[in-house]
Amino acid sequence: MKNRIEEIQNRIKTAALRSSRRPEEITLVAVSKTKPVEDIIEAINSGINVIGENYIQEAREKYEQLKDSDLSWHFIGHLQSNKAKYAVKIFDLIQTVDSLKLAREIDKQAKKINKIQDILVQVNIGEEASKSGTSSEKTLNLIKEISLLENIAIKGLMTIPPYYDEPDKVGPFFKALRDLRDNIIRENIPGIDLNGLSMGMSGDFEVAIENGATLVRVGTAIFGERN
Ligand SMILES: *Cc1c(COP(=O)(O)O)cnc(C)c1O
Repeated sequence: MKNRIEEIQNRIKTAALRSSRRPEEITLVAVSKTKPVEDIIEAINSGINVIGENYIQEAREKYEQLKDSDLSWHFIGHLQSNKAKYAVKIFDLIQTVDSLKLAREIDKQAKKINKIQDILVQVNIGEEASKSGTSSEKTLNLIKEISLLENIAIKGLMTIPPYYDEPDKVGPFFKALRDLRDNIIRENIPGIDLNGLSMGMSGDFEVAIENGATLVRVGTAIFGERN
C-alpha cells in the first residue's frame, strides 16, 4: 500500500505543478468505506492522515478503534438528518450537506456538544436524478441560509460528477463547480470560506486538480477494489 500511496502523492504533485499550483494546497482523502480498520492503520503508517467514510454505522465502529490515531475524519456519504448527531461526534468535515433541513439538524446537534461543525455544500453539478446534492441554481441561496446557522462553518463545495470512462470528459463538470464557487465568492457572504473544492476520485483526480480541487477523494487506487 505504501507504494500506491506514494505514487498517488507523486501524481498529485505533478498535476498541481502542471497547473501552476502548490502541491500543499491539495489534501488526499483516503476513502476507506467497506475496508477494515487494519487497512486504515496501514494507510496511516504509509502517510495518510485524512480518511473519508460513507456510512455512519460503519464509521462509528471504526472510530471506536481509531479515535486515538492522529486522523482527520471526513463524511462523504449521504447523510440522513436522524444520523446527524453521530456525524457531528465523529467527523471533522461533513462534505455532503445538500439541504437546509440537514444543515439545521447538524447545527442543532453541534450546538449540543459545543462544536462548530465544518461542512461542504454538495452540488449535483451534472443535474443527475440519481445523485444527491443541491442544484447549481439553488446553491447560492442554500449557502446564504446555512451561513446564518451559528454552529456550522461552510468551508467550500463538493461534487460527484457524472461518470465517464475517459477522465477528460469530466473536466467541464469540475470547472463548472469551480466557476459556481467563484461566482458565490463575489457575493461576499459574511462568515463563510469557500476555498474548499472537493472533487476527483481514483479515475480522475488529476483532472480535478487541474480544475482547482483542494480535496481529492481516492479509494480504490489506495485500498484496491471494494467487494
Ligand atoms: C467511494 C467514493 C469515492 C472513492 O471512489 P474511488 O473511485 O474508489 O476512488 C469518492 N467519493 C465518494 C463520494 C465516494 O462515495
